[in-house]
Amino acid sequence: MWKKAVRWALRASGLEEFVFHSVFIERDVIQAVIDFAKNAHPNEFSAYLQGKVSNKVLHVTGIVYEHYHANESQAVISADLPLLHEVVGTVHSHPSFNNLPSSVDKRGLFTMGLVNLIICRPYTFNRVAAYSTNGRPMDFTIVEKVKAK
Ligand SMILES: [Zn+2]
Repeated sequence: MWKKAVRWALRASGLEEFVFHSVFIERDVIQAVIDFAKNAHPNEFSAYLQGKVSNKVLHVTGIVYEHYHANESQAVISADLPLLHEVVGTVHSHPSFNNLPSSVDKRGLFTMGLVNLIICRPYTFNRVAAYSTNGRPMDFTIVEKVKAK
């Protein structure tokens, strides 16, 4: 249900048609991912990423982290969705030392959005990995906050 809603939102915003060659992620976003992952440990946490594509660069500027339910095997985002404006992807944690996407990831979270992040233990900046919707690793650059135009 939530998956369908995200797909719909992405289609409605035209994001699926956006072309980008670089991914910039604000430092605050990575820091929030680290904090949430640590707090959720030994469970997973998952959330949506907010951002936009401009000048062929995908900027990730925030996290939509609401109400969620998690257990040790899988994190599930509640159907009680926040506003889906500017959702560009997903992020979740692995309470292991492996930040590669699982087969469940490839069938589930990764089927939406433009970029999907996975963080694993010990939950530091260099344990964050980014993947495209087909599970291929993507390069990204951590940037300081982008000023609104
Ligand atoms: Zn996963």
